[in-house]
Amino acid sequence: MSQEAINKALSTVKYPGFSRDIVSFGLVRSAEFNEGKAIVNLNVTTSDHSMAARIRNDVETVLNALEEVNEVEVNVSINTAKKAAAPTSTPSSPDQSPIKGIKNVIAIASGKGGVGKSTFSANLACALKAIGQSSGKRIGLLDCDIYGPSIPLMMGINKRPEIEGESIVPLENHGIKIMSMGFLIDEETPVIWRGPMIQKTIQQFIHNVMWGEIDTLLIDLPPGTGDAQLSLVQTIPLKGALIITTPQAAATQVALRGAKMLEKTNVPILGVAENMSFIELPDGSRSAIFGEGGGQSTADDLGTDFLGKIPLDVSIREAGDSGIPVTETSPESSSAKAFFEIASKLEEKLS
Ligand code: ADP
Repeated sequence: MSQEAINKALSTVKYPGFSRDIVSFGLVRSAEFNEGKAIVNLNVTTSDHSMAARIRNDVETVLNALEEVNEVEVNVSINTAKKAAAPTSTPSSPDQSPIKGIKNVIAIASGKGGVGKSTFSANLACALKAIGQSSGKRIGLLDCDIYGPSIPLMMGINKRPEIEGESIVPLENHGIKIMSMGFLIDEETPVIWRGPMIQKTIQQFIHNVMWGEIDTLLIDLPPGTGDAQLSLVQTIPLKGALIITTPQAAATQVALRGAKMLEKTNVPILGVAENMSFIELPDGSRSAIFGEGGGQSTADDLGTDFLGKIPLDVSIREAGDSGIPVTETSPESSSAKAFFEIASKLEEKLS
């Protein structure tokens, strides 16, 4: 029996409460198979020891089910999570998140840069807040676009966050809790990011920010489909990802590649949204300057839902530049409504 078979079996074990498996979460330190004996070493970061016990139990079950395995040894080392990273106060809930107080973490991914991922993230955050206001829903926005953080500009807030103890206090504007690399770096000094540094920074952002109670945390991922994105999605316990693309083939191809990478790490793709789909002309007709159908075909290729089209509209750009997303300034406009429609579909999926 091969090592691969052991790894394959391990990748069927889900992290409790998540659709992602323990391999993609990086919990498996080593896995060996020798003369009928499978030895697996796991490293679990949690302050809830029952979580580690559940994972051990699940691993033993899948390995014992393999025909050629006669004996199973599972060693679990537990890193006690920092206070801020402790599980929620409802550890028995199946939707438990390992980030304290946060129910759903959703990544916004695009593949290609400049397709409007940050614009989409900022507007979606405001739209989700507005939709959930009556039920007291709290929304957070984490800008992980470390190469060009534009969320501070689009959300109209840019100052140094305060530190309390070992935690960063997120800033807040338009009723959204916001954290961005842009708050911490000096605009004049470009930062050269390397793999381990990215991962460490993101981990700190996730676990050392005092998010408080958040229903949905949107994460604006950096563009691209390389190591940076991979280490990000492996660091963050994601409920799923939304893919944002323009209709143009140049964007859809990269979006598709990015989405496939996410799928490989078992991040469910919740849907595809198309930005810059058309311009509305003064006579009311629409001009599809970047072509048509790219978002729908990307969704079809991924076997996921197409969530909607966002027009290319000067009001969206101006609102972003002024620091108040169009969903806040003109919620009745057709542009804002396009974001609200997508937000409602996402909310439906999450509930
Ligand atoms: P990304 O995060 O993918 O790099 P941005 O959100 O920064 O993209 O958008 C790139 C530029 O396009 C910004 O100047 C933004 O204001 C503009 N933009 C994005 N979406 C739209 C839209 N639907 N209509 C008009 N301008 C848009």
